[in-house]
Amino acid sequence: MPNKPRLAVIKFASCDGCQLTLLDAEDELLSIAEAVHIAHFAEASSHLEPGPYDVALVEGSITTEEDRHRVRRLRADSKYLVTIGACATAGGVQALRNFADHQDFLRAVYAHPSYIQSLATSTPISAHVKVDFELRGCPIDKHQLLEVIASLVAGQRPRTSTESVCQPCKRRGTVCVVVAQGLACLGPVTQAGCGSICPAYDRGCYGCFGPTRQPNMTSQSDHILRPRMPAADAALCLQSFNTYAPAFSQESQRLWNIAGQPKPLHPSLTVDHD
Ligand code: SF4
Ligand code: SF4
Ligand code: SF4
Repeated sequence: MPNKPRLAVIKFASCDGCQLTLLDAEDELLSIAEAVHIAHFAEASSHLEPGPYDVALVEGSITTEEDRHRVRRLRADSKYLVTIGACATAGGVQALRNFADHQDFLRAVYAHPSYIQSLATSTPISAHVKVDFELRGCPIDKHQLLEVIASLVAGQRPRTSTESVCQPCKRRGTVCVVVAQGLACLGPVTQAGCGSICPAYDRGCYGCFGPTRQPNMTSQSDHILRPRMPAADAALCLQSFNTYAPAFSQESQRLWNIAGQPKPLHPSLTVDHD
């Protein structure tokens, strides 16, 4: 449709869960469809239009040589490029390979690993092209996604929370699981966005929205994680959905060193920003 902003939803290495968040917005989808022209959304339609796009929502991390080129073409085709989810913003679970020998994983999983052509690393989209806005979460939060789309359509910069999970946790009246139950919780260093769901159900936050803007990682490790678990387990707490987010990555390496099991990042990891 003419005069409507053209929206594309593009996938790289990922589980599709963040795209499903858009489809799960059933009550709001009609309004979205009225406000934008959905030009490319393979999860929802086989009718795929080429760029240029006004807004590209990008899910997934870069794990193949082909995708390194594809994301550059997409950047050139997109006015605003927004990354959605832990895979696109921090390399995702698949970035665990950045701390190990990628060939070991291939040999463990595939009967014929020689057929697999993938990079030795999994990197966020921002390691390859300029990103206009990052939306965190694994998966992302529906309300934050709608806020981002509405803001961009209105020509405004999106605003999403930069507070930690502890703040909405306290506002909803949850009794702290660290204090009351002695559980480990990444809430103090994790960005809000989920409504602090996990502590409300008597479990610690495991950091799926990634690090806050200025997390005190050593204090978190030394006062909340390590009194409750060995250093190696504390390192593993940080190596899940947002493994390659700089704050979590660096602190996990410090904890591996404390555990006496140094795990250096893969030597080929470099930022090749345009
Ligand atoms: S961030 Fe999580 S939900 Fe989103 S695509 Fe990656 S693994 Fe799936
Ligand atoms: S339960 Fe976790 S998120 Fe909630 S206040 Fe305690 S440390 Fe923070
Ligand atoms: S409480 Fe933590 S782990 Fe649970 S959904 Fe929120 S950010 Fe994710």
